[in-house]
Amino acid sequence: MLRIEFERQRDGAHFRRCGVTALRASVILALTAACASPRPAPLVPPEIEFVSRSAWGAQPPVLPMRAHRIERLTIHHTGTNQNHSRTVSQKLQGLQLFSQRNDSLASGRRKPAWADVPYHFYVGVDGVDGEGRDWHYAGDSNTAYDPAGHLLVVVEGNFQRDTLTTAQRRTLDILVPSLARRFRVAAEKLASHRDYAQTECPGANIYSELPRFRELIRRRQ
Ligand SMILES: [Zn+2]
Repeated sequence: MLRIEFERQRDGAHFRRCGVTALRASVILALTAACASPRPAPLVPPEIEFVSRSAWGAQPPVLPMRAHRIERLTIHHTGTNQNHSRTVSQKLQGLQLFSQRNDSLASGRRKPAWADVPYHFYVGVDGVDGEGRDWHYAGDSNTAYDPAGHLLVVVEGNFQRDTLTTAQRRTLDILVPSLARRFRVAAEKLASHRDYAQTECPGANIYSELPRFRELIRRRQ
């Protein structure tokens, strides 16, 4: 790496782009990182099948959203039946329709319209990962906790009774440590909805996986 930076310094082309002609090597190395840092690694590792917002046909947010700084990684479940016959794109389209309108919940309580889907990532039953709300903005919740600072991953199913499919487990085992590393979330800051609010979410069969996810994060940091 160091050798490459010095070669760039010699040819000078890179630094002209940044408006720098002559600086001490240490300063130049720092500027190299600032001016020519490679594009950030993709949010989702390439070994996971990922469906971006544009690929699933997301509508833009319908309300203002709150910018936030990610400090935690928080797991949810959808609480719905695992559906093997619809694609993640179809599920996210449906979730967005529900999210962006006033509606009522299974409990009978009213849900206000949200700006967008409440979660940042959606892991379908087939292990496909769909892009949810722009992670620069806090999610939403029906329960009494403030999701600001939380990167929200939702997993399709009701894990009070369902278990992770092989494909979901594989995706989560890659996605969770990768996101934790990318956003500098320590293993201790990985938790689940029920750790913050009065809810069963994400179900006992995901909750029991959290220690294993934390261990995967520790191994990658
Ligand atoms: Zn939840």
